Amino acid sequence: MLRTHTCGELSLGHVNQDVVLCGWVQRVRDKGGMIWLDLRDRYGITQLLFEEGKTPANVLETARSLGREFVISAKGAVIERLAKNDKIATGDIEIRVAELTILNPAKLPPFLIEDETDGGDDIRMKYRYLDLRRNVVRKNLQLRHQVARYTRAYLDNLNFIEVETPVLIKSTPEGARDFVVPSRMNPGEFYALPQSPQTFKQLLMVAGFDRYYQIVKCFRDEDLRADRQPEFTQIDCEMSFVTQEDVLNTFEGMIRELFSKVKGIDLPEVPRVTYADAMRLYGSDKPDTRFEMQFVELKGDDRDLTSGKGFGVFDDAGLVVGINASGCAGYTRKQVDELTDWIKRPQIGAKGLVYVRYNADGSIKSSVDKFYSEEELKKWVEAFDAKPGDLLLILSGQGDKTRKQLNELRLEIGSRLGLRNPDEYRALWVIDFPLLEFGEEENRWFAMHHPFTSPKPEDVDLLDKNLGQVRANAYDMVINGVEVGGGSVRIFEKELQRKMFEILGFSAEEAQEQFGFLMNAFEFGAPPHAGIAFGFDRLCSIFGGADSIRDFIAFPKNNSGRDVMIDSPSAISDAQLKELAIKVAETAQ
Ligand code: ASP
Repeated sequence: MLRTHTCGELSLGHVNQDVVLCGWVQRVRDKGGMIWLDLRDRYGITQLLFEEGKTPANVLETARSLGREFVISAKGAVIERLAKNDKIATGDIEIRVAELTILNPAKLPPFLIEDETDGGDDIRMKYRYLDLRRNVVRKNLQLRHQVARYTRAYLDNLNFIEVETPVLIKSTPEGARDFVVPSRMNPGEFYALPQSPQTFKQLLMVAGFDRYYQIVKCFRDEDLRADRQPEFTQIDCEMSFVTQEDVLNTFEGMIRELFSKVKGIDLPEVPRVTYADAMRLYGSDKPDTRFEMQFVELKGDDRDLTSGKGFGVFDDAGLVVGINASGCAGYTRKQVDELTDWIKRPQIGAKGLVYVRYNADGSIKSSVDKFYSEEELKKWVEAFDAKPGDLLLILSGQGDKTRKQLNELRLEIGSRLGLRNPDEYRALWVIDFPLLEFGEEENRWFAMHHPFTSPKPEDVDLLDKNLGQVRANAYDMVINGVEVGGGSVRIFEKELQRKMFEILGFSAEEAQEQFGFLMNAFEFGAPPHAGIAFGFDRLCSIFGGADSIRDFIAFPKNNSGRDVMIDSPSAISDAQLKELAIKVAETAQ
């Protein structure tokens, strides 16, 4: 090896030893007679010392010629520092350099390689290898490595085996567009990149593998948001001869283990909520349960405390529902107006906001005092179980839409009240998802999870009566309001799978053509099976306390799906196109 130690490991115990370190020049401080240099590698920073009179002249000269990010090798004795630095692990010592070699000079980097950098997003992505030299970025990838390692250890221990499934496949319907790859050997035909290994993992169950997992790349050609990447990684799992309960317990165990090993956190119990309750209580299938603030209905299926008092808005509404912003009765008129404007923005689109102040002195004041007596408002306050000092924020309108809007308001108020502490973690299972959802635009039914998800046995009859009512044994895991994983108990009978494709609008021929392989496999002894997949990048970002998954991917794409470092995607030559039998439309040329 070119070095005896790393830049992160020397301490007082090494004093007087001769060592050789290699690394990058972080910073040079030349004070005339003395030069100090911070040498950096993956493990840390060690200070090198050069001193007029004591350091050989040629070494001093070389030291003076160094620039930031030069790669050097330094040999010398470990000495105790006079001025210790307790901010770094090697802060008690420094190296009195006797020999110095420049292994490779470096151009001045386009941004500071420091935790606080002056480089914007674009430039750092273009020079991602320099960005990756920064501690903060490197640590994210080290965390990712740990998450992968503990995931494997946990699953290995439970007899799961990791199997690689192919990347050049044929479309799997997970609800996004496929990336396709032309086949040179089969002109005019295309592979699709997997949106997930769904069908393959099910075939592995038919093959008797019993417990499978894979930390695997998946590809979805979607319009990108800040937290999406066209290629991303899943912890993909499948099990045979299990119930939903077994899957939930197994993977709750995994998440618990990861929290404990990676974060040193004992995750609180993971409650379960049905999809229907989640929508009713939070207006979302991924509620942030770090705080309560559940919805309370003033007018809904169970009661009506608002109609017939002359307030047309509530009279006409199917749903009047609100939240209790506990302790916020002191909000000024201006603050409430501002909230009203916030919720009326087109992104949320509420028509208005009604408030009720339950003042500290017990009096009640609302924006609808004209229509409701104090007596009537008192009933509202009771419905909310509010205390003096609380502020009720109430929306009304059509059910689903209003709940969605109130969900946004709930999250906003949660944030404003500091109830969404990033260092606190609450996981939740959302279960009993509907099997199907109706696409108004397309005028047809879609699988809410995917077409391989099984209806609940007790709801199978409804497949012929009321498709919207059919519930699935499908589940999501949500952490702090972010969906981190989802899965389902699968269909494993050919006839049911055939029927499902029919409901989803596939003709018998189309179903056979696209999924014949799976339905055929079901004729050769398919065991009951179920599984789940976790978004690995997203899990890492949660463990790392960051919003974006990009920070946890070594070489991510930007919001337009571009890798600006290698400049991809890019055009290919006419010769390549010809070889692939691809005709390019005139306009694209
Ligand atoms: N394949 C599914 C997904 O990617 C997960 C599963 O059902 O196991 O969401």
